[in-house]
Amino acid sequence: MLTLLYAGAPGAFAAYEPALREALATAGIAARILRPDEAPGAEIDYIIYAPNGPVSDFTPFTRAKAVLSLWAGVERVVGNPTLTQPLCRMVDTGLERGMVEWVTGQVLRAHLGLDRYIHRHTPHWERVVPPLASERGVTMLGLGALGAACATTLAGLGFRVTGWSRRPKAIPGITCESGAEGLRAALARAEILVTLLPNTPQTTDLLNAETLAQLPRGAVILNPGRGNLIDEAALLAALDNGQVAQATLDVFRSEPLPPEHPFWAHPGITVSPHIAAETRPATAAQVIAENIRRFEAGEPPLHLVDRARGY
Ligand code: NAP
Repeated sequence: MLTLLYAGAPGAFAAYEPALREALATAGIAARILRPDEAPGAEIDYIIYAPNGPVSDFTPFTRAKAVLSLWAGVERVVGNPTLTQPLCRMVDTGLERGMVEWVTGQVLRAHLGLDRYIHRHTPHWERVVPPLASERGVTMLGLGALGAACATTLAGLGFRVTGWSRRPKAIPGITCESGAEGLRAALARAEILVTLLPNTPQTTDLLNAETLAQLPRGAVILNPGRGNLIDEAALLAALDNGQVAQATLDVFRSEPLPPEHPFWAHPGITVSPHIAAETRPATAAQVIAENIRRFEAGEPPLHLVDRARGY
């Protein structure tokens, strides 16, 4: 009998506990699922973790074989010096479908110019016929689990999709770029730019005055990735001078976004409160159970984080 520690958001235990129980039973794993006050750290075999849970010091968990994150982004745990166990991040079909729906909705909103009509409440019969998707360039920065799924869906709708990643990739229907030159080419085609990169030192301020200037004039930015990706002052300047027409931001350097932050009041910015994609207990529990099965069987785990790379 394994002992699992649920160290996710306390309020989500009621949703995760039955989902984990069912997934573990289906995977043939006998386990009890406890909360931090229910067992000494030294009895724990696996830690199911989220940064909004109660654990930040992993030293008591002397027997733990792995830390299994409920979040896709691991920037708040990857550098934790007390973490000596393997760390796996969450890749979940629920999370993926949620992100695909959010990104597709926001891309279509920008592509069709929906705001023009939604916010008009005076008689003004101005017809602005949008181009077809095949005439619109969309660029995805990040072609991982989420970026590749979004890029593929957008290509399926007919958009001209370019993707950019650290390592070269080949994805049917997507023009794939990588490296510094690739970034320049990807930005130049980005009438709509979507950022689905992790928060690492290398991605911080990737969108700055210089790179924003490489976008087509009047580009739209959608950031469901991480707040660190964008130099905030440079974005505000680019919005104010028309280089960027509009930005919809789901993630921020500080969350909740402070009430006095200029993003709230800026007419070119839509603030979305980190709801682009949520881990779904039913599907996430299956990923956790499968990884525990793999660790117990001595098989390579899924979605192992490269601690040096940071994602
Ligand atoms: P992933 O599978 O790890 O993919 C990350 C992608 O970014 C990969 O294509 C990777 O390139 C690329 N990348 C990383 N560093 C790079 C660099 N320095 N230069 C160029 N490309 C780089 O991650 P994911 O599951 O798709 O998730 C992406 C991010 O979405 C997460 O890290 C998280 O921050 C965010 N997220 C947000 C929400 C939300 O609700 N807003 C929900 C879930 C996740 P390689 O393929 O070459 O490694």
